[in-house]
Amino acid sequence: MRSHIVLYFGKPGAGKGTRTQKLKERTFLLDDFMILSTGQMLRQAVADGTHLGQEAKAYMDKGELVPDHLIVSVVLDAIEKAAENQKSIILDGFPRNLPQAKALTDALNGKKIYVVDFPIADEIVIERTIHRRICPKCGNVSDDTHKTCNQCGTTLIQRSDDTEEVVKRRLDSYREDTEPVLDYLVKCPNVRLTRLYPTISLEEDPGMETFFRSLH
Ligand code: ADP
Ligand code: ZN
Repeated sequence: MRSHIVLYFGKPGAGKGTRTQKLKERTFLLDDFMILSTGQMLRQAVADGTHLGQEAKAYMDKGELVPDHLIVSVVLDAIEKAAENQKSIILDGFPRNLPQAKALTDALNGKKIYVVDFPIADEIVIERTIHRRICPKCGNVSDDTHKTCNQCGTTLIQRSDDTEEVVKRRLDSYREDTEPVLDYLVKCPNVRLTRLYPTISLEEDPGMETFFRSLH
């Protein structure tokens, strides 16, 4: 398998991370992939109190994008590292605006890009995210019918930005900043777009399976 670049698009709570995790548990299809969730990376930086985390926190709490200079070079470095190790990479949460998208396409210089869009209605986003709970230790995602992580037993918490007010702002940012990125990318000749609509069962996800099989 060649090293591929896959970009995920979808509103908060669209199921990007969860569907990927389930596919990974069930199949070998993601064995050669590094998965970089920029939101997860930033939350870890906040928890670790690093310089990046300290700079990013206020933006994240408001549901705004963190400034490009904090994120672009980190992501481009990760892509380079994946390529050096002959790994493919999934970027979940990047690029989020046009300047990030242009930085990425410039760096990739015509390399093929697989874009995966996870469409979902706003009402479902709000319902899901306010009931969402995450494991502060391993990042596993669950909901408020569970108290502890089914992977590691840690008490689940609510993300500080998973409140109705902040989720609505994240949806605004998605519409204003991120949807134009999809419009830009689909016009690039080296981009292939796949839309993966919500799956009926997380245990069987033929859309995800067919997509990743096509890369092998
Ligand atoms: P969502 O659930 O809204 O998709 P993420 O977990 O991807 O959220 O990201 C959480 C927060 O991290 C965002 O609201 C934003 O503040 C910040 N963030 C993540 N990725 C980026 C990025 N590529 N550019 C700027 N900010 C980002
Ligand atoms: Zn856990």
